[in-house]
Amino acid sequence: MKITRRFVLAAAPATLALAALPLTARRGWAVTTLVLGDLRIDSVSDGWMELPADFTTAGIPEDSRDEVIAQFDLPTEGMVESPLNVTLLRQGDRVVLFDVGSGPDFMPTAGKLTEALDAVGIAPEDVTDVVFTHAHPDHLWGVLDEFDEPLFANAAMQMGRAEHEYWSDPQILDTIREDLQSFAAGASRRIEVLGDSLTLFEDGAEVIPGVTAVATPGHTPGHMSFAIGTPEQGVFVTGDFVTTLLGFARPDIGAGTDSDPELAAQTRAAMLARLAEEKWPIIGYHLPDGGIGRVEADGEAYKFVAEG
Ligand SMILES: [Zn+2]
Repeated sequence: MKITRRFVLAAAPATLALAALPLTARRGWAVTTLVLGDLRIDSVSDGWMELPADFTTAGIPEDSRDEVIAQFDLPTEGMVESPLNVTLLRQGDRVVLFDVGSGPDFMPTAGKLTEALDAVGIAPEDVTDVVFTHAHPDHLWGVLDEFDEPLFANAAMQMGRAEHEYWSDPQILDTIREDLQSFAAGASRRIEVLGDSLTLFEDGAEVIPGVTAVATPGHTPGHMSFAIGTPEQGVFVTGDFVTTLLGFARPDIGAGTDSDPELAAQTRAAMLARLAEEKWPIIGYHLPDGGIGRVEADGEAYKFVAEG
């Protein structure tokens, strides 16, 4: 099947989009962002997460929480949706996934990557390479199928060395925050199943020809982003160094799941400055409209300009 179902986007005023993560995640499977010769990059949807509203405001410092919620009109009750945008790169015989979504065990609204790939004519066994940004459930857990077998049976898999070290440390359950214990158990189990099929890389490595790893720590200790090609002819895969539109307007405010909030904030500010300056098109894993857009300076901070 060669049809790419595109997102049908509802026009939403910027403030509304900032307040509630968009309702558009469920409407499509793939958005194409770049076709260049035999290179093609799509954002494919693993579905979306449904999160309690207070979970999404957990990264705001206690003493300014009410003020920020009021200023950005953030929801405080009910559930909000966070899209899951997996980057798919195809070039010649190469089929590369940047992260693999959540798999069958995380949330009923997520784990749809196989269907999304099917909609663009790709079966799991066609995938030649998988590169991970980090080992959180919504990025890693889809690597195993419902029988706990590796889903992408023919793929070479790569993870940043520091990330791998962190989650495969036998002491992790004693040291990680209580609310992240299930993340740790899920990550170490999957890393164990993958075993030697996982190759490790460092900051600056060329993980795939033309794709460079960029260390962006803070969300997790070994978090990586990826520069595909150049700003003129490429896409920057952010991963989770910025997960909400609020993070653009207030780079000092991160996700409640950031393992080192201070480092995450430094990384976010530095990376947003760089992406705006270099005018990179980006795919953000949890951003609206397939996560495709650009970072633009906006006063003292930034904004996400969707281009999906
Ligand atoms: Zn995530």
